[in-house]
Amino acid sequence: MKCAKVLIIDDCPDGHLLLEARLKHEGIELHHAYDAPTGLTMASELQPDLILLDIDLPFMTGLEVCTHLKRNPDTSALPVIFLSGASDVWTKVQGLELGAVDYVTKPFHAAELCARVRAALRAKRMQDTLSIHADVDALTGLHNRATFDRRLERDFAAARAGSTRLTLMMVDIDHFKQLNDQFGHPFGDDALRAVAQILRRGVRASDSACRYGGEEFAVLMPGCDRDEAALVAARIRSQLAELVVSRGGQTARVTASFGVADDRDLDSAMHLLDSADAALYRAKRSGRNRVELCRATPDRDAASEAHETHAGGDALRSGSGRGL
Ligand code: GH3
Ligand code: MG
Ligand code: MG
Repeated sequence: MKCAKVLIIDDCPDGHLLLEARLKHEGIELHHAYDAPTGLTMASELQPDLILLDIDLPFMTGLEVCTHLKRNPDTSALPVIFLSGASDVWTKVQGLELGAVDYVTKPFHAAELCARVRAALRAKRMQDTLSIHADVDALTGLHNRATFDRRLERDFAAARAGSTRLTLMMVDIDHFKQLNDQFGHPFGDDALRAVAQILRRGVRASDSACRYGGEEFAVLMPGCDRDEAALVAARIRSQLAELVVSRGGQTARVTASFGVADDRDLDSAMHLLDSADAALYRAKRSGRNRVELCRATPDRDAASEAHETHAGGDALRSGSGRGL
């Protein structure tokens, strides 16, 4: 199990030494901040599993630090335990109302401190596990639809802010219903997993390969334009065409159709989705097992002939679609 990271924010060096001595057998990695601004920066960069936050800090109190942590989306989920000499009940209530998970009054008993730290870390591990399940598609291990929706908006905004390109590649397995009908759903599930693995391996670590739904996948490719992405799509298309899915002595081949669009001339993430979808539709209509690019501008009908086949498309096409 990975070593938990705990950030101590306390202006008093003796406080750090005391905590270090008390927690030395807990198998945790301690990090130290001696003032509030450093503590806030470290919390954001380090993403600790727990923050031990002194209430009595100069210039900015621990309660204010906690407020900042909870307001910032990068740090809002980090658990905080307040440490304070003040034992008055209203300070404790205020600290907990601000979102802290616990409150330890100084001078603390070593056993009590360790038990509270352990309890907070247990809850954090549980939270991490749940959040992974909430973001990941259980069948394929790719990002799920909810993650895709969030990242589409995020990456579109980042591309606008940084004047970089964002490309979306939509992938839809061809005649997948027939595969299920002929070989059964468990076989279809194996095919989905195999396709997902080829997709994940075929894109960069900075890309987001997602299961959009059913037998459809979507890959967000920041910093990549549609022509570069088309080459990636062409490579993945031919790898998929080589794929043989087997289960219980039965084997079958799968192919997929690809629609690729980038964000140039588009004013919303939704338009990018529409453009990639329209290109995918065209790939299906043109015979499947092929890559199509969308070159539409927003004022042209997304489903019209404006979606041109990629120039030099021979490299991107397989010829006729190969149904099952
Ligand atoms: P096209 O080439 O036009 O895309 O045809 P298609 O048969 O792939 O498309 P269609 O939308 O008609 O069928 C999709 C099928 O995908 C139907 C559905 O049962 C199947 N499917 C969706 N999710 C899953 C899944 O998780 N597991 C399995 N085995 N099948 C799934
Ligand atoms: Mg489909
Ligand atoms: Mg399909």
